[in-house]
Amino acid sequence: MTQSHIQKLRLIAFHRQHCLCFYCGLPIWEEAVEQFASAHGISNAQANLLKCTAEHLIAERDGGQATPGNIVAACAWCNRRRHAGRPHKAPDAPTYRCRVAKRMAMGKWHPTGLAAVFKRNGHACYAPKMPEC
Ligand SMILES: [Zn+2]
Repeated sequence: MTQSHIQKLRLIAFHRQHCLCFYCGLPIWEEAVEQFASAHGISNAQANLLKCTAEHLIAERDGGQATPGNIVAACAWCNRRRHAGRPHKAPDAPTYRCRVAKRMAMGKWHPTGLAAVFKRNGHACYAPKMPEC
């Protein structure tokens, strides 16, 4: 599986999800990190937590494939946290999504105050054009 194939699937998922993370629902970006950060009044370091990544719903290790139905767009933070410290027993995607939703509702997911910024500001998409399929 080539990297560009994954990148294409990631971009398709990004647009399908209206530029929002599959798990936490915050805006994510594909390009122009500086503009994204300045539009939202956050630092580049904070914006980097919201970089769009390709997430396998069913992990490759468990037979999940790089297909449009199995790839979603997730922020770097959510993607990293799903697997952090438990490479062999990460929660399945629906379980993890529920967990993240509960933490978001309590305001206890991303590092300090990041989610609140988006409640105030709304969002726009920072991405290249949709690829040809
Ligand atoms: Zn997220």
